[in-house]
Amino acid sequence: MASLIRCPHCGARPREEFSVRGAALARPAPDAGAGAWFAHVYLRDNPKGPYAEHWHHIAGCRRWLVATRDTATHEVLSVVDASAHEGASA
Ligand SMILES: [Zn+2]
Repeated sequence: MASLIRCPHCGARPREEFSVRGAALARPAPDAGAGAWFAHVYLRDNPKGPYAEHWHHIAGCRRWLVATRDTATHEVLSVVDASAHEGASA
């Protein structure tokens, strides 16, 4: 059975229409130190449970979305447009 993702613009669409692009983290301030930028670009936690990720609806509206997915079950808990997402703290 194909898994369906509910795009806020297109409705329920097959998972294959989306591309996952990594953790949806808040960016450090432009003048943050090199250590903060290194951590933002290269270091990731590996949490068990809900985790916000950037997804691109490449075969649909082509909008960037933030999907919150349970890393243990792969269940998608919510999907919002990336412009409406504040970002998680790094
Ligand atoms: Zn869409």
